[in-house]
Amino acid sequence: MDLTIKEIAEILKSNEDSEQQIANIEFDSRKITSNSLFVPLKGTRDGHQFVEQAKENGAIATLWSEDRSRVPQDLFVFEVEDTKKAFQELASYYRKKIAPKVVAITGSNGKTTTKDMTEAVLAQKFKTYKTQGNYNNDLGLPYTILHMPETTEVLVLEMGMDHAGDLTLLSQISEPDSAAITLIGEAHIENLGSRSGIAKGKMEITAGLKKNGVLFVPADEPLLSPLVSSLQQKVITFGFTEGNVQAEVLKTTQYSSEFMIDGQRFSIPVIGSYNVKNALVAYSFGHYFGLNNEEIANGLKDFQLTKDRTQWSKAANGADILSDVYNANPTAMGLVLDSFAELPLTGRKIVVLADMLELGESTKQMHRQMANHINDSFAEVYLFGTEMQALYSELQKTQTQVYYFSEENKQDMIASLKQDIQPQDSLLLKGSNGMGLAEVISALQEK
Ligand code: ATP
Ligand code: MG
Repeated sequence: MDLTIKEIAEILKSNEDSEQQIANIEFDSRKITSNSLFVPLKGTRDGHQFVEQAKENGAIATLWSEDRSRVPQDLFVFEVEDTKKAFQELASYYRKKIAPKVVAITGSNGKTTTKDMTEAVLAQKFKTYKTQGNYNNDLGLPYTILHMPETTEVLVLEMGMDHAGDLTLLSQISEPDSAAITLIGEAHIENLGSRSGIAKGKMEITAGLKKNGVLFVPADEPLLSPLVSSLQQKVITFGFTEGNVQAEVLKTTQYSSEFMIDGQRFSIPVIGSYNVKNALVAYSFGHYFGLNNEEIANGLKDFQLTKDRTQWSKAANGADILSDVYNANPTAMGLVLDSFAELPLTGRKIVVLADMLELGESTKQMHRQMANHINDSFAEVYLFGTEMQALYSELQKTQTQVYYFSEENKQDMIASLKQDIQPQDSLLLKGSNGMGLAEVISALQEK
């Protein structure tokens, strides 16, 4: 990276003075390589206690907010009040120094997917860098900025939000040229009170948006309309049947979706109408950055989805497994169920649903409502976890073949599934990451 000790000292108002270059910045001492800057953070454990290890691994400098006498010799030391804040200040400086165009993506669902699609599109024309995995919070975002190559022309950032105020900070650090809200759902509703609170929170992505910048928002979200109307920046809406930019789904196969935007055909290597929406956002960014349809189509056609998001694999007996177990909330679960129901597959469709976590007061009701997405397309439904009891009671009123397993009975569920599934079947698994469906999938894949 392109940062010297002297520059860091200037940003953090310290007296260290050297032209020596920093090669890397890490807060995990195990990741430190030679000539790195160590950033001790106070999380569940205090990073300050790992400064020796950081030095052994090659750190030449450290941020520090503890008693200075505990710092090892021969390190440049930047004393600060709050190491996390200082880390964010460094990111802010570095972003201005490298000066890429910045794309910011938030939303209750589809951030990572849209980010990956957008980067795949923009990489057709620019030197791009994007948030790795899901590094989308007040640590992950500065980390991303501080790890972008010096030659980066467009930086694509995912921005996550748990609480009001989160996105204001992230947007101010990154000062985006263009931004998108994928959708307003119910994720983290516990902290934000209501969907309206979530919409307001998402609008914070404009806190640092350049005055001549643009914001892409879903056309079908009434909660956003009044909020964007007072915005100084340009607003472009997207959707299926309304909005400035529209996509029409043409065809879905087991592995891909085809759709039309503005008379041009596009294809993505993933299923789900929601992924077509994500692609519509990626298209909009591509268009904004001056790419033509052919370049956008090339970027979209074989972009790589981040692991565990609507991903196909095979069970040991040859059955198809569609895993979507990275996270879950009602919007996403409903959409994935609808998409799975519509897929043109030959064998039986079996669904395994686990609890959706962090939904607060309306948890029971939201689980119960999933019954609206379960119909006779599914031969069987397996429900797993305490909250899924609500859906279980609801489904008992219907003709659906449904089995319930509590969390203690995970192994029983695995055994039942193994016995039950036939090679021609397709299985959808969806639930919050914390419910450990990944383990169920591994067990089904094991020979
Ligand atoms: P996180 O908040 O965990 O970072 P995210 O917003 O990055 O999540 P993704 O990782 O892209 O979201 O997708 C997670 C899941 O959300 C997908 O596997 C799918 O089930 C669902 N999903 C993706 N895109 C959409 C969308 N546009 N609308 C609704 N649900 C979606
Ligand atoms: Mg994500």
